[in-house]
Amino acid sequence: MFKIPLPEIKGMILKSGKISAEDLEKKIKAKINDLSGLISEEGAAHIIANELGVELVKQGDKLKIKEIYSGMKDVSTLGKVVKKFDVREFAKQDRVGKVCSLLLGDETETVRVVFWNDQVDLLSKVNEGDILEIKHGYVKENNNAKEVHLGDRGELIINPQGQKIDSVRQGPSHERKKIKELADGQGAEVLGTVVQVFDPRFWPVCPRCNKKVLEMGQGFQCTEHGEVTAGLSYVLNLILDDGSGTIRGVFWKNQIHHLLGKEEQEMVVFKDNPSLFESVKTDLLGEQFKVIGSTRRNEMFDRLEFNVNLVEKANPEEEIKRLEKS
Ligand SMILES: [Zn+2]
Repeated sequence: MFKIPLPEIKGMILKSGKISAEDLEKKIKAKINDLSGLISEEGAAHIIANELGVELVKQGDKLKIKEIYSGMKDVSTLGKVVKKFDVREFAKQDRVGKVCSLLLGDETETVRVVFWNDQVDLLSKVNEGDILEIKHGYVKENNNAKEVHLGDRGELIINPQGQKIDSVRQGPSHERKKIKELADGQGAEVLGTVVQVFDPRFWPVCPRCNKKVLEMGQGFQCTEHGEVTAGLSYVLNLILDDGSGTIRGVFWKNQIHHLLGKEEQEMVVFKDNPSLFESVKTDLLGEQFKVIGSTRRNEMFDRLEFNVNLVEKANPEEEIKRLEKS
């Protein structure tokens, strides 16, 4: 199942004209009831779309970025390079791996596209502002954000002939805000200095649905997929300060990798040996980062938190230019 936000599924069903908004709500409730509450509202909406013959996703065609959803396995799209990030190298067993990503945008949305190892060389000729056509990529969920990966079958065409992107929708999620201006439920970009770092937390997850799994005897049990070989997920919190205020930044697995320049096999070490993380904390303190994400209220602790979808080291030149412009 693809991860399509509920309002979008509902929108697509209603657009088909096959059911009224009122009836759709009733049908969703009835479906959840039928299945004794074992499915989510999204799940119920998916089933109803299926029953009504409403196609929620187009596969194979060239998609607008907004039409790309996590879980898709054969995605082709076209966009303009909004931002190219630095290449990062990492040790994997006895080899050195590398990863590079960029932010691709069209008039509907932006998405991070990730390139691994040999694919990274393809990017040496790519500059910000170039048009890229991605063919046969797949889409991964990265804690609330989708990421397009090229994969083995993927193809990249740089500045394909006759193709252009007139405008890129950056969306409100990229607007720079002061920490004191952050409001619940809003997307923003924040520039902040790390003033406190907490220990990462680790938990086993199902490799298929990424949900937390329970240890049962020798193995792990996923409520949806039964006995599985567990993968590992983790979260890291730190406090960012920009002079106007402070906020707790929440970094999930992939963003922790971007934040620390580390890969999973390096993170595992901290799970087994938390004291080794102390020096990582010390290194982070005083560092300045640019983060893009959204603010949400943590009801349990009654505080605002910033859920990070993109992180990069602050670029002093870029910041000076920004100050000159304003
Ligand atoms: Zn599962």
